[in-house]
Amino acid sequence: MTTVTRPRTSGQARLNVRAKEITAAELERYTARTPGSQAANNRARQVIPLGVPSSFQAYDPWPVVAKTAKAGTLWDVDGNEYVDFNMGFGALYVGHNHPVLRAAVERQMEHGMLYVTPCESNATVGELLKGRFGHDQWRFTNSGTEATMDAIRLARGFTGRTKIVKIEGGYHGHHDSVMVSMKPSLDNAGPADSPWSTASTAGLAAGIVEQVGVVQFNDPDALRRALSGFDVACFIVEPVMENIGICLPYDNYLQKVRQICSEHGTLLIFDEVKTSITAHMGGASGHFGVQPDITCLAKSIGGGLPLGAFGARKELMDLITDLTVVHQGTFNGNPLSMAASIATLSEICTQDAFDRTAAMNTRMLSDAQVIIDEFDLPAHTVQMGAKGCVTWTVDPIRNYRDYKGTDFDVAFAHWIYGINRGILLPPGLDEQWLVSVQHTDVEADRQTEVFRDFAKELTA
Ligand code: PMP
Repeated sequence: MTTVTRPRTSGQARLNVRAKEITAAELERYTARTPGSQAANNRARQVIPLGVPSSFQAYDPWPVVAKTAKAGTLWDVDGNEYVDFNMGFGALYVGHNHPVLRAAVERQMEHGMLYVTPCESNATVGELLKGRFGHDQWRFTNSGTEATMDAIRLARGFTGRTKIVKIEGGYHGHHDSVMVSMKPSLDNAGPADSPWSTASTAGLAAGIVEQVGVVQFNDPDALRRALSGFDVACFIVEPVMENIGICLPYDNYLQKVRQICSEHGTLLIFDEVKTSITAHMGGASGHFGVQPDITCLAKSIGGGLPLGAFGARKELMDLITDLTVVHQGTFNGNPLSMAASIATLSEICTQDAFDRTAAMNTRMLSDAQVIIDEFDLPAHTVQMGAKGCVTWTVDPIRNYRDYKGTDFDVAFAHWIYGINRGILLPPGLDEQWLVSVQHTDVEADRQTEVFRDFAKELTA
């Protein structure tokens, strides 16, 4: 597969200069309006590296430190108000503090917070997930990381193979097997049609990197080559990559992937930690009509409480039943997360709610596209269900290497400009916004208004 990235134009070089000017001015403004966040971060840094509980939350000069949140809005410790389109990195499809979810959790709290003996709601959530995603059986975890870790272990246990294949630039959490070629620098990434596997952190167990093959997204031929030794346990992939903006599968990629995995006795794992119920009632697998062997979930299915899950057909899950593959955890299926998940899946994130948020998102994206066209910006919009993004490349991206062609100077200027005007988008320039069930048309319009002002300043 060849990827064509258009050369930057002289017009774009001018935009880069302008973007850097905007960033410099906006950083001063940010500093002036967030002294409370600065102080809170300085305090936290004494006892917590970078002053944040997860390194994803860190950015310069210091992150916005939250005080409270409700519905579509978040307030920081300085009293600044933001329309929160980050929504917990996509975990809060229900929005902040949804009254139905809150009532469900409070009702459960009357009856205790943790039993570590099963509760009836475990089966209820299992049934709800089965109904949406089609797999026979489910087990719960506390995070997406644990879900992909357990899914890969199950695949290895089932196939008796140890090698796995993942996507270059793909993120699946922070356990050893997937911390390979997460976001490699391109001078250490090898050829596009057979990328190198590179460690993404110090501290990996010996031999891990050698067990992990890497291919590019949207490249079925590379996958076929990677599986040709019939020694790969699983191919783990997000059906839509949502850690490089939103990168869609093209030309029946997922259907091809399904077939190639089946032909090679390799289990197909869909990591739907980010897509799932924000993409379609039945996840991205439901949207594209491709059923993986194992599905990993987390984030939005818990309505803001820590919850992950993995599901598969009974034949696979029988390895857990007969204790061949060991799966355990103190907080797995805890009643508070179960109560939140039942409210989320059965009462809040209904078909109507999905249709409404997806429609609001379509409108936000088409408004953004009008502005992109009007100001001739080197950008385009992408939608997956209730999630959307403006990606700062002219052409749609097909993989991580295309994504590296993003104009990050303009992307950063856009992001910080929004923060200073009450629009909170995820940090890191590689995420997307989420229209939650509690966002309003007024909040959606605010995003459009700020984007238009940014476009004017960028092209002034
Ligand atoms: N898979 C994907 C696709 C993710 O985006 C993430 C988190 N951003 C994870 C797995 C890990 O989930 P968690 O942070 O809950 O461990």
